[in-house]
Amino acid sequence: MAPIPQTGTSKHYDFLVIGGGSGGIASSRRAASYGAKVAIIEKARWGGTCVNVGCVPKKVMWNFNEILEAVHDAERYGLNVGNIDMQKQFSLKTLKEKRDAYIVRLNGIYEINLTKQAIEQYKGTATFVDDTGKRVCIEETGEEITADKVLIATGSKPEFPADVIGAELGVSSDGFFDLVDVPKKVGVVGGGYIGVELSRVLLELGAEVTLFVRGADPLRNFDDIIYSTLHSEYSNRGLRIVCCSHIKSLVDKGKDGKKELELTYEQKSNTADARKDANGHIPHVHISNPSDPGVAAETFVEPGYDLWIWATGRTANTEGLGLDRIGVELKPDGFVKVDEYQNTTKDGVYAVGDIIGVAMLTPVAIAAGRRLADRLFGGPSFAKAKLDYSNIPTVVFSHPPIGTVGLTEKEAVQKFGRGNVKAYTSRFTNMYYAFSERKPPSAFKLVVAGPDEKVVGAHMIGKGADEMTQGFAVAVKMGATKEQLDSTIAIHPTASEEMVLMR
Ligand code: FAD
Ligand code: NDP
Repeated sequence: MAPIPQTGTSKHYDFLVIGGGSGGIASSRRAASYGAKVAIIEKARWGGTCVNVGCVPKKVMWNFNEILEAVHDAERYGLNVGNIDMQKQFSLKTLKEKRDAYIVRLNGIYEINLTKQAIEQYKGTATFVDDTGKRVCIEETGEEITADKVLIATGSKPEFPADVIGAELGVSSDGFFDLVDVPKKVGVVGGGYIGVELSRVLLELGAEVTLFVRGADPLRNFDDIIYSTLHSEYSNRGLRIVCCSHIKSLVDKGKDGKKELELTYEQKSNTADARKDANGHIPHVHISNPSDPGVAAETFVEPGYDLWIWATGRTANTEGLGLDRIGVELKPDGFVKVDEYQNTTKDGVYAVGDIIGVAMLTPVAIAAGRRLADRLFGGPSFAKAKLDYSNIPTVVFSHPPIGTVGLTEKEAVQKFGRGNVKAYTSRFTNMYYAFSERKPPSAFKLVVAGPDEKVVGAHMIGKGADEMTQGFAVAVKMGATKEQLDSTIAIHPTASEEMVLMR
């Protein structure tokens, strides 16, 4: 490897990590554990997206929904807690203050852990300054740092649609976490994780919520048992879903600084399928191909939104890094191109986490960061260490929650052929709701392939699915067969027993 030209002022490290989020912190700590001299640069708060504006504050809000649900159900179990008046008895401001304080504690813990391992910390915005890929400057201070190996772990940021007039009047999930008052009428756009999670939280907080999705269902890339169950449950709970929709514009008609957004959107409707509700909307319509130009679009105008949330995906945090200067190639979607060992196209420069645009999840960023540090600094036994990106389990923190691992039935059929794939399903009401009027559904599916019925996918929606999925993910990862699940004694009375009792 060519020696790095040193200037009198720059400090030199074995490993320099850009980005103090999930992937960057994990990788830096693992490298330091092998005795490497490590530095990390972070421009904002330690912990990155997950801790500050992602998993952690989101899970706090989801937990609050759980509490509300339990309070609603308490009376059915004989505990009279009276009616809750959310406006009088709940303060979002107080919850936010507690949440923020918890996050500050976590920021501090991350910093302490880095210090304990003698990882040198720099605060500021990193940029590559020449074509070596080994020299980085901190914009705000002008400090220069050199390293033999550099990891890009700068994550992602929310993306707003470019074709909507007035898009800037909306906020992203980051803006959701700034709320101190519960909005009255909210529009959420995007049928992915964030749209599905935040819309449900807002509904439970007492807002009138509409979720706009451009396909026929939210989570349309999940297994059909998941998206169809979720769609009807959300609609039954009063969360309006406008499918096959395209947002055209937002105009603020509010006075005295009070936001009142007027929305214009188009909805693809197929008169043969359309079942319009009293407001002229299509609550739940399955259009086989909404992007078919032959399907007519109707335009609707709706006033009075005081909050608008874009949950339309995320884009790579590459801006200002100077990646073109060092020859790190990007993929067409703007995320960093890496091989299976997290190598970028520049020798000695690596990337992990959201920045590569694959399975954008905290545990994936952490695992990839650790495997990389193992390979680079862990000695010969780790020379081939890399992350296996198959069978990554995930949970969507909706209500009810969703857990999934492996292939959807559709994907399995594409991979193995219809004749080689079988699906086992179970639909039931969780015993928790035995006394409740409302009966949120549980729906589970096992997708099996081949003559030995190897389980290639497990999909669950229902109370408890969030905690159930991890164990079944181990089974899928180990290549369990349906017969092996069947031979496992059920745990009764639980929801997870359904997973070993399907026929
Ligand atoms: P990040 O954690 O984003 O860290 C990147 C860091 O780099 C940031 O701190 C940033 O400030 C810093 N940075 C950027 N550019 C520079 C620069 N030039 N110089 C210095 N520093 C820089 N995942 C889950 O697994 N479970 C969940 O429940 C979950 N919920 C989520 C909820 C929301 C609302 C969101 C938005 C995401 C959620 N995620 C969840 C995804 C998860 O947060 C990300 O996948 C994860 O944080 C990615 O880690 P990372 O290290 O790649 O990036
Ligand atoms: P996702 O990629 O999950 O979903 C984006 C959604 O936005 C899709 O439904 C997409 O529609 C839709 N969309 C994109 N562009 C437009 C547009 N112009 N108009 C209307 N809809 C549009 O992204 P998220 O932002 O929800 O989340 C980002 C990532 O963060 C997730 O993929 C996940 O990896 C991670 N995350 C994980 C969580 C968890 O583990 N619980 C929670 C939150 C985030 P279509 O379906 O038609 O493509």
